[in-house]
Amino acid sequence: MWFSRYWCFSNKVTGAIVVYMSEEQNIQTVTSATSPKVVLLGTSGGPRWWGERAGIATAVVVDGFFYLVDCGSGVGRQLQSAGLELEHLRGIFVTHMHSDHVVDLASLGIFGMFELEYYTGPKIPIVGPADRGQVVRASPRADEDPGVLYPEEPTPGIEGFWEHSMRAHATDLNDRIRDSLRPSPSSLFEPREIDIPDSAGFHANNNPVPEIDPFEVFRDELVTVTATLVKHPPMAPAFAFRFDTRHGSVTISGDTAPTQNLVRLARNTDLLLHEVIDNEWITERYGNGSTPESKTMIDHHLNSHTTIEETARVANDSNADTLVLHHFVPGNRPLQIWERVHENHGQAIVGRDLMEIHFGKAYVRTRSGDQDSKTSLADAVPVETLKL
Ligand SMILES: [Zn+2]
Ligand SMILES: [Zn+2]
Repeated sequence: MWFSRYWCFSNKVTGAIVVYMSEEQNIQTVTSATSPKVVLLGTSGGPRWWGERAGIATAVVVDGFFYLVDCGSGVGRQLQSAGLELEHLRGIFVTHMHSDHVVDLASLGIFGMFELEYYTGPKIPIVGPADRGQVVRASPRADEDPGVLYPEEPTPGIEGFWEHSMRAHATDLNDRIRDSLRPSPSSLFEPREIDIPDSAGFHANNNPVPEIDPFEVFRDELVTVTATLVKHPPMAPAFAFRFDTRHGSVTISGDTAPTQNLVRLARNTDLLLHEVIDNEWITERYGNGSTPESKTMIDHHLNSHTTIEETARVANDSNADTLVLHHFVPGNRPLQIWERVHENHGQAIVGRDLMEIHFGKAYVRTRSGDQDSKTSLADAVPVETLKL
């Protein structure tokens, strides 16, 4: 077995993999190894600031470039802490329009006027939901209809969100582009709304989570991104995304209660990043639901999120290799609470901000003579799958 000719080790904390080959194999000397990885930029969920965890955001790093899933509070600073530069950003993927997932999206565009000063690549796509087209029904517990804000456009998708965000900053943007000669955010970023296949019969209020096969939403030479509809009522559409690379895959649940759509998307994935809620906290926080408001919140949390035990079931059902918990609700719970996941899944990781987790097959970077070959995937040498 040729794998045995390599000396390999992996660091379970950082996920780093190092592979060395002996020179007598008459192939190029290997100096280092890498594989795709995720960086958990922020791991808390909900429209709150929770202690030390930043808002939900994840980078999928492939061959020196990265793809960003969600833009929770603090994402720009977390990217800096992770050493990820915007000029290497290939795309932003928004799972759904809840504020904890998009609150710092506009700041990437606006600060991008400076961070991307010398960027010459194509516009960076922001792939996300379309306008849901229907206002959420009022809660049956409401004494009277709470009304609708901005009835002329009450449910913008990612295009409307971007447009309105930029308009709100027009004073600043015009200052920067006219006096400082900065590039406009709209020349750097481009929102693209996800088309849900008609055959699914999706309707935001009447059929928000139809059974659906994963469908492609993005592709370049490094990744193919597929999506499915997940169950996060009353938010719709809500997506999960899967990134397939030459060397392995990662699936990111978005916000969801357990659903077969996600199980299908995550089938045999190397890494499953899954949202999680602590159901004991729901009881502590809202009691037995003695008021309409607390009853509504209990319903929302139980119907729209996944408990610790349920995350393990989803990972097992989809045959995911490694389960990683993130999007913790609440984000300030002690670690021991989340570590209960180990009781139900042997290969689970409780996420922390800035944790890096490699996935899939490792590949080794090669050196020709003294010349570092600035490896591309094409001349990398694949090795056996290394599971962490
Ligand atoms: Zn969320
Ligand atoms: Zn949400």
